[in-house]
Amino acid sequence: MNLARFPRIRLGHMPTPLEPMEQLSRHLGGPRLWIKRDDCTGLSTGGNKTRKLEFLCADAQAQGADMLITQGATQSNHARQTAAAAAKLGLDCLILLEDRTGSTDPAYTQSGNVLMDKLHGAQVARRPGGADMQAEMEAVAADLRAKGRRPYVIPGGGSNPVGALGYVNAALELVAQAAEMGLRIDHLVHATGSAGTQAGLVAGLVALNSGIPVLGIGVRAPKPKQEANVLALAERTAAHLGLPGLVRPEHVVANCDYVGQGYGIPTEGMVEAVKLVAQKEGILLDPVYSGKGMAGLIDLIQRGQFTKDQNVVFLHTGGQAGLFGYPEAFGLPPDIAA
Ligand SMILES: *Cc1c(COP(=O)(O)O)cnc(C)c1O
Repeated sequence: MNLARFPRIRLGHMPTPLEPMEQLSRHLGGPRLWIKRDDCTGLSTGGNKTRKLEFLCADAQAQGADMLITQGATQSNHARQTAAAAAKLGLDCLILLEDRTGSTDPAYTQSGNVLMDKLHGAQVARRPGGADMQAEMEAVAADLRAKGRRPYVIPGGGSNPVGALGYVNAALELVAQAAEMGLRIDHLVHATGSAGTQAGLVAGLVALNSGIPVLGIGVRAPKPKQEANVLALAERTAAHLGLPGLVRPEHVVANCDYVGQGYGIPTEGMVEAVKLVAQKEGILLDPVYSGKGMAGLIDLIQRGQFTKDQNVVFLHTGGQAGLFGYPEAFGLPPDIAA
């Protein structure tokens, strides 16, 4: 496998740190917990989409694009990082935001990631929940092409075989880092949504014959659908790498027991996990992805899924900007007023 064959533009700070979470491990009574800080990729407060955008933006430039179009939920971290990448590369950016939660809290509809999309100069348009967002983007792109523009359309979450190369790259980085530290990784756990992160990690870790199993904690779809989405994209990513047939169904595992009422809707477990990691490790998780991912990891630990001497790495995929869209979920601002 030779990732250097694929065009890439550097947008992030890499390698991201791989650090122990000693207080949290002690608090939970084992296993040994580690955190891979992909919230520290740097671009506009960072997050996992930056790795995907390194390959997607290079593809956009190779195709002569003059603007990026993408879509996501109102508090999309992907939209924010795409807006920042476009700004850095001198491209225009159009973002379609889908109202997936129905929240009318102005903090949700205007602050957090939405504020940052606009600070980066992106044009933001809204669509109702349940809209066919890919079709909406294609329609807008066709209009712009008719006017002489050259838009590059990035799917939601940047999840296609080009974007997933960013997480093949992360797999290479993680395995090299662990080897240097003498760390035997027994499990890698992270939040999975549009599937590109897990698909890239699985393709990369299997290609390396690393033996590291990946567990995706779902934030939206039920398990059969999530696993099918990840598997399909992992297979396409492996084929794109020149390794067709590499990924098998047993390589793809998702646990979707921690979604709660739906995508972007807070759960009690998420709130507890965000507070616990903030107070034990000084690390901020996010309400939509990493908070639910960590809630799942904590619950699985409490159910005895891991042994005390195992090393479990939690991939922090970022998203803290979304905290400012959810003050009420954390009991704020009433607490502040008190
Ligand atoms: C998008 C996102 C994820 C999920 O990654 P996918 O590649 O979409 O599965 C996880 N965490 C955060 C903070 C995200 O923004």
